[in-house]
Amino acid sequence: MSLPPGGANGNEDTAGNGVAGSGAAANGAVAGSGAGNAAATGNTVATGNKAATRNTAATGSGAAAGGGSSFQAMWRELLPVGRNQDSGGYRRYAWTGADADCRAWFRAQAEARGLAYEVDRNGNQWAWLGDPLAGDAVVAGSHLDSVPDGGAFDGPLGVVSSFAALDELRRREVEFTRPLAISNFGDEEGARFGLACVGSRLAAGQLTVEAAHRLRDGDGITLPQAMEAAGHDPDAIGPDPERLARIGAFVELHVEQGRALDLTGDPVGIASAIWPHGRWRFDFRGEANHAGTTRLADRRDPMLTYAETVLAARREAELAGALATFGKISVEPNGVNAIPSLVRGWLDSRAADQEALDAVVTGIERAAREHAERAGIDLDVVRESFTPVVEFEHALRDELGKILAGRDGGDSRDGGGADRPVPVLGTGAGHDAGILSASVPTAMLFVRNPTGISHSPAEHAGEDDCVAGVIALADVLEGLACS
Ligand SMILES: [Zn+2]
Repeated sequence: MSLPPGGANGNEDTAGNGVAGSGAAANGAVAGSGAGNAAATGNTVATGNKAATRNTAATGSGAAAGGGSSFQAMWRELLPVGRNQDSGGYRRYAWTGADADCRAWFRAQAEARGLAYEVDRNGNQWAWLGDPLAGDAVVAGSHLDSVPDGGAFDGPLGVVSSFAALDELRRREVEFTRPLAISNFGDEEGARFGLACVGSRLAAGQLTVEAAHRLRDGDGITLPQAMEAAGHDPDAIGPDPERLARIGAFVELHVEQGRALDLTGDPVGIASAIWPHGRWRFDFRGEANHAGTTRLADRRDPMLTYAETVLAARREAELAGALATFGKISVEPNGVNAIPSLVRGWLDSRAADQEALDAVVTGIERAAREHAERAGIDLDVVRESFTPVVEFEHALRDELGKILAGRDGGDSRDGGGADRPVPVLGTGAGHDAGILSASVPTAMLFVRNPTGISHSPAEHAGEDDCVAGVIALADVLEGLACS
């Protein structure tokens, strides 16, 4: 990928200009409207408070506080949005009302800080300090949508921390030498349409428009219909290489989805790689019949074959030191007194390398086919999505390591100080950063999660660790984007 010359936004007082209408016109990639908030989406780029867009000044209400205190205020504001009263978990699915509320929150945060707000052609949100067209931008962000009954941290921690890090940098009165943006990538979890990272995949050209237009949710609503209902033009979606070419570095802060940092005693770590991972759909077809009158010997019950397959998945994963999970199932006719005609199960599998992942999935499919044949069950296996191993760019990763290790004071709870190396961890979870890494130098920071629990209402990070994450992100952004 070729990038515009570095340091393109060299002067400190340019942000009041190009980010507005003129920038959008030249850009051409800014399409549609801000989803969800119909009243606020008439234009493509909203400039917010121009008086507040000077790069160095701490202006605008949102910028008054340093990173820590502004983090808590934002966190409290976002906390009730899309939360289910019964489960305590979040149901922030793409292009729904809860998603619209999250997106309205993002826009409000951008505008409170005088950042130039825009929605790109794929529905991803951006808040700019400096000229978005100048190139070599430093971008921090994550996502605001959730899995079914997800936790509060997966996604929002990265977005809230990005705004709080900017507040911290303004408090420090640093001078920006590169444009800075905060992003919220749409539909990261894939909870509604079954494909993760739709916003970043589309932008990076890793999902075709045709395939995206075919995506359907559980109610049969297509992605274009859902986008349209939320005020976004589905015909605008597609690859956005010009936009990605203007990004010099993307940093995603994320709650850790494991316990590695808890074991090392560090509040913050750096990602090394994302394991290859994918989703496979297994359709087991048998024969529906009466649960009370059909002799066991006469049944063609796909639930049994499915159950054998789940057990095989566990065995294969253990053998390979990998992960395999059937976490979603649909049954037809789904009656208590009916033998199923169809059991459809979704396999999620991840491993440290491609070879191990192939071995696991092949082993599971082989076992499923053997059991299916014996029981007279028809089996179809379809790979629905796949993401190869992602090695985050070594130069950027090393730079983050240097920035964080060289800080004064340190902020580990066990008293880690200057020159303490920051742990570097691999992860089995997919992220927008992983998708974007094919087009943009990309890095990730993880914040300690004491239980390791994620994708659950019990997902948690301590407040001190969240603030440590904000400060680490601010340090990183300062190191990358400031003189
Ligand atoms: Zn996430």
